[in-house]
Amino acid sequence: MTDRRRYDVVVVGAGTAGIPCALEAATAGARVLLLEKDGRVGGTLHTSGGHLSAAGTRRQAAQSIQDDSDLHLADVRRISHGSARDDLVRRAVELAPVTVDWLDDLGFDFAPETPRLVYGHEPYSAPRTYYGRDGGLSILHVLEPLLRDAVARGDVELRTATPVTGLRSDGEGRVVGVTVWSRDGDQDVDAGAVVLATGGFAADPDVFAEIEGVPLVSAAHPTSTGDGLLLARTVGGAVAGRGTYLPTFGGLPHPTTPTRAQWSDRPLLIATERPPWEVYVDRAGRRFVAEDEPSIDQKERALVAVPDMTFWTVFDDRARRESVPMVLGWSPADLAARAGRRAGVHTADDLESLARLAGIDPTGLLGTVRDYNAALTDGRPDPTGRQHRPAPIAEPPYFALENHGITLISFAGVDVDADLAVRRTDGSVVPGLFAVGEVLGAGASCGNSFCGGMMVTPAIGLGRWLGARLGPGLADRSLRAPESLNSPS
Ligand SMILES: Cc1cc2nc3c(=O)[nH]c(=O)nc-3n(C[C@H](O)[C@H](O)[C@H](O)COP(=O)(O)OP(=O)(O)OC[C@H]3O[C@@H](n4cnc5c(N)ncnc54)[C@H](O)[C@@H]3O)c2cc1C
Repeated sequence: MTDRRRYDVVVVGAGTAGIPCALEAATAGARVLLLEKDGRVGGTLHTSGGHLSAAGTRRQAAQSIQDDSDLHLADVRRISHGSARDDLVRRAVELAPVTVDWLDDLGFDFAPETPRLVYGHEPYSAPRTYYGRDGGLSILHVLEPLLRDAVARGDVELRTATPVTGLRSDGEGRVVGVTVWSRDGDQDVDAGAVVLATGGFAADPDVFAEIEGVPLVSAAHPTSTGDGLLLARTVGGAVAGRGTYLPTFGGLPHPTTPTRAQWSDRPLLIATERPPWEVYVDRAGRRFVAEDEPSIDQKERALVAVPDMTFWTVFDDRARRESVPMVLGWSPADLAARAGRRAGVHTADDLESLARLAGIDPTGLLGTVRDYNAALTDGRPDPTGRQHRPAPIAEPPYFALENHGITLISFAGVDVDADLAVRRTDGSVVPGLFAVGEVLGAGASCGNSFCGGMMVTPAIGLGRWLGARLGPGLADRSLRAPESLNSPS
């Protein structure tokens, strides 16, 4: 069945990047179709923390914070050790203040403490992280009414519960449309340009295993199944960013599903948030990093070398009572109540039994705790260099929380040129096909690191920028975005 209508732009995925892209394409005069496989729009904004990072915003100026996009770019280079796509990062950080001011104009519900320095990832050199009171949903609360209005005006046609299942090419390799699934059978839709804004693949164990090649314990949004990457490959699109993967440091296993983590039950493992009382041990019972290491980046890199990226935080009852709570939202009493009942939360009256319950080598764990306690009580330095040692681990019952390197986002993705046109392995462009958002892979905007806000902000900023360029003139390279959306470079 063929849909006779032809659209200037078909945007695949009504999420963080796709909605702004579709809106701007429509504003630029394009006839736009926005296709979403889920029953609702918003994609990962339903799950995301929604942190944005931008330098040179009105909000910073109001607080006399001196900052600019060159400093932002320098920080991304520093944090990523130069492993991100410099051309894309430069454009993204230049668009970032425009993006945040735009959200501001639209009544975005900023958390009052922002902009601020955030320590969940390696910190920036200036307070330039913003988020809404409702995390990613605060962004959706701004985007959704705009989309609703655009749909009501007939500027954007939106179809939800409509997955794109194929890309259509002409005889010369140009993408000329998409195939969508519908209850009435597959439909072909013609398009001047197709934008893949389908998100990442961190919720799909098979695609993840093939592309990233590391164990997946996922806290990604369930729609992140790699559709855009797989679609791009059918027309020769190349994969970029392999080898830039980095796990998020620690997360409890999901109560029922082994390949998933429960992001809401987040162990607090950032030393600046909660100075540690526990030791971290691998399956052999060995420590692998100073638990009070202030750099979360260093901890994440140490975890990559740990077998299965699995470790346990081991502590005693005094730590349970006196430390800042070990898991986000769990009181000491909650922890005691869940021990032995919730997956990954173990307790026993002696360390050997604890090790057996948790799956740690008992001899290794006993030796590690003995050495840790002895160095502390003898006043000797800790072999890992750890400074914060509030008490020996000596008061039963003992606890072990199982942690995995967890995955929120995928790092590899579709290769694009500086104009977000999809590239083949030989570097040539697939005419008519563009990509934006996490489908490019975190490696593009963060390299082999986590740079705060550098997924959501580029998704929105570059999404708008791309949409504005794909007016009725389509993939014409001479078209520029309106001045307000053009980065100076
Ligand atoms: C728990 C969590 C916290 C995070 N916190 C932050 C943060 O604070 N800051 C930050 O910068 N990043 C954060 N991220 C990452 C960031 O949220 C995402 O990278 C970003 O939102 C992805 O935007 P996107 O538009 O590329 O994809 P999405 O927002 O996921 O949108 C993709 C859309 O495409 C649709 N789709 C997929 N395939 C098809 C198909 N075949 N046909 C039609 N539609 C399709 C999906 O259903 C979805 O609606 C976080 C991620 C997670 C999981």
